[in-house]
Amino acid sequence: MQTNYQEILENIVIEMQPFAKEGKQADYIPALAKVDPDKLGICLTTVSGETYKIGDADEKFSIQSISKVFSLAIALSLEGKELWKRVGKEPSGSAFNSLVQLEYEHGIPRNPFINAGAIVVADVLLTHLKDPKSFFLQFVRSLCDNQSIDYSPEVAESELACGYLNASIAYLLKYHGNLQNEVKDVLEFYSLMCSMMMSCTDLSRAFLAFAESNKPFCHGGVELTPSRVKRINAIMQTCGFYDEAGEFSFLVGLPGKSGVGGGIVAIYPSKYAIATWSPRLNNKGNSIMGMKILEEFTTQTSESIF
Ligand code: GLN
Repeated sequence: MQTNYQEILENIVIEMQPFAKEGKQADYIPALAKVDPDKLGICLTTVSGETYKIGDADEKFSIQSISKVFSLAIALSLEGKELWKRVGKEPSGSAFNSLVQLEYEHGIPRNPFINAGAIVVADVLLTHLKDPKSFFLQFVRSLCDNQSIDYSPEVAESELACGYLNASIAYLLKYHGNLQNEVKDVLEFYSLMCSMMMSCTDLSRAFLAFAESNKPFCHGGVELTPSRVKRINAIMQTCGFYDEAGEFSFLVGLPGKSGVGGGIVAIYPSKYAIATWSPRLNNKGNSIMGMKILEEFTTQTSESIF
């Protein structure tokens, strides 16, 4: 029997209302503090093309660290396993913008989904691509088949103006010889990728390419073997939620990635990709409602990879 995703999602949103006012949106990037914290969107897209939407599913928001999955896909297609000499693939167990670990591990970030790792990945893209900004944009547009996707220069500038911690990370990487380009250029490109505006509908479509990990990945000039897509999904599972990666795995049981804009994307391999957006975050920088909704969703549908 076909699972009634629409009805299940609608009921879960009602059941989760007691948590709707918990947490607050990110404000260390001033432009994100202006977003209405009560927005709530969900979109699930199946591999056979059905779509289920709730609330603000079609409103675009800043994807922030969700962009790290897209940039990793490009970097892996460019460098293959050479990439793992400059960035690890172990959970960090520390905050997404932590500096300490990077210092005692001599400038090799734990994984590509913490800021330090994603800054190295941004450097890889800058080194290899002639026009990295438009390549990244075209890649994401082609993944979700939406030409209206774009960066938000306002969010990118707002982050750069107050991005002292990311600047410290980048200088430490540069000191250890793990950045080939100028710190300023790498930070500019990193913040631009984070600023990309997408809706839950766009994100769930884009992540279908990762959910269909049994097929060759070929989108917008980026080609990956099923084995490489499997590895990206494995890193989402173990590192997608920073020092809450274990908790997300425990509660939800799907590979996923969050961003401080309040978005979360999760995939059920060979079946669907689901995106949620609710800007109120917990103290780890992950969306409270997003995590609760996904936990309840995989519980009620009994669909998790475990
Ligand atoms: N651009 C944000 C930062 O570097 C991304 C963080 C996130 O989404 N966790 O701080």
